[in-house]
Amino acid sequence: MNCIFCKIAAGEIPSRKVYEDDQVAVFHDIQPQAPVHLLVIPRKHIASLNDAAPEDAELLGRLLLAARKAAEDAGIAGSGYRVINNCGKDAGQVVFHIHLHVLGGEDLGPLLAPRA
Ligand code: 5GP
Ligand code: ZN
Repeated sequence: MNCIFCKIAAGEIPSRKVYEDDQVAVFHDIQPQAPVHLLVIPRKHIASLNDAAPEDAELLGRLLLAARKAAEDAGIAGSGYRVINNCGKDAGQVVFHIHLHVLGGEDLGPLLAPRA
């Protein structure tokens, strides 16, 4: 499959990996939006949250726990961090292999500001 994150998971495209196991990989975002910006992906290709099935429930939980571990290992668990999943066009999803962004290392400000 011609998917950039499948290739990163397989090691066919280089990345700065900080964690991997048989189901999950974590690596630095190539265009960081915060001092710490990591991406958490499953090895299994799931295009987006819309495409996750009930049998993926455990895997989705693993992604969240890997995000927490990545935050701990990056030293930002105590100061706080934000975990984001962009799903689809209006959320700005660019890579259609499901992933969690882990952002931190500074005050990220409010995510949900009141609309003007
Ligand atoms: P999305 O908008 O789909 O939620 O986020 C995709 C993220 O993947 C972006 O933050 C982008 O910088 C990152 N990204 C895209 N291509 C690559 C790549 O080849 N390597 C790495 N490490 N990150 C990538
Ligand atoms: Zn993929």
